[in-house]
Amino acid sequence: MAIDFSETGFETEEPLVATTLTRDDDNEGSLRPQTLVEYIGQEKAKGNLEVFIQAAKMRAEPLDHVLLHGPPGLGKTTLAGIIANEMGVNIRITSGPAIEKPGDLAALLTNLNENDILFVDEIHRLNRQVEEILYPAMEDYAIDIIIGKGPSANSIRLDLPKFTLIGATTRAGQLSAPLRDRFGVTLRLELYTPEELSRIVSRSAGILEVPIEREGAMEIAKRSRGTPRIANRMLRRVRDFAQVRAGGVITRSVADEALSALEVDHLGLDAVDRRMLTSIIENYRGGPVGLETLAATINEEAVTLEDVYEPYLMQLGFLTRTPRGRCVTARAYDHLGLHFAGMEQMTL
Ligand code: ADP
Repeated sequence: MAIDFSETGFETEEPLVATTLTRDDDNEGSLRPQTLVEYIGQEKAKGNLEVFIQAAKMRAEPLDHVLLHGPPGLGKTTLAGIIANEMGVNIRITSGPAIEKPGDLAALLTNLNENDILFVDEIHRLNRQVEEILYPAMEDYAIDIIIGKGPSANSIRLDLPKFTLIGATTRAGQLSAPLRDRFGVTLRLELYTPEELSRIVSRSAGILEVPIEREGAMEIAKRSRGTPRIANRMLRRVRDFAQVRAGGVITRSVADEALSALEVDHLGLDAVDRRMLTSIIENYRGGPVGLETLAATINEEAVTLEDVYEPYLMQLGFLTRTPRGRCVTARAYDHLGLHFAGMEQMTL
């Protein structure tokens, strides 16, 4: 199986909480699980996929089109690679914003081999014209091409090889209904539990040949916001600390020292999380406040707050979404060591 990562954009910035693949993830290639058995957690999605893959293989047909959704860094790209591996087919990796014109998509589709997988990351960012090419491609394995201009223009239908489209998105709600309906399988990835993340950290440490104690792995797991990408990234930073300060072994106290130095608190909250919560408390008396207003106040992108920060804050029970906006809960006040006195909070 050949994975072509050439069309994935890698950023050079390297924040702990990133919305896209970074260079760090690039050489993290070796940490990506290759089979369903190696893929830790997401038992529900994995169980379903196992059945669909086996059935498709028994019928010698391509797998139905799959939509994967959930916050960034939970393993959508990894899972697409695993599906290709388990099906024994090639995968081509691209992303919604990279496909600018219908012709770009037509070129990608006509270059596929029978049963291949086309993985489109951020599929909610496909433009309308491109999306319309995708409908007949997904449904009938064909595309309509217009030849010529004006009254003499002619439309011809081009048959495509049977293929599987795997779409990944952080925001399933933004997908148009006709596109969403054309996926036979929709799988939602959930944030990981600390136990699952600690297994992921231990596995990665094994591959990187870094000695790690069980409590060290757990400490990293508890602070990585339910997200394997963050867990792996933290492991690398903690490894540096362990090498310089502690003879190379990652213990609980080395992990604690390293992550505290990176301003990640014991629940995994970073400076942006804290700014978000304190801003709601100080400027909006605990909320409710609209997402856009909040984003402008703390100078962050609204989509970043919604996709990257909110899911974990809501899982912790620190933030709630109400029809009138976001509210901070008593639990978040506690965590920040603040007195809970918001008027609006009393009615929650
Ligand atoms: P997404 O496409 O959802 O943003 P990725 O598939 O790029 O996320 O995953 C980010 C990193 O996390 C990968 O490099 C991989 O090593 C690791 N990872 C993700 N899911 C798992 C898992 N279930 N088990 C082990 N490692 C995982």
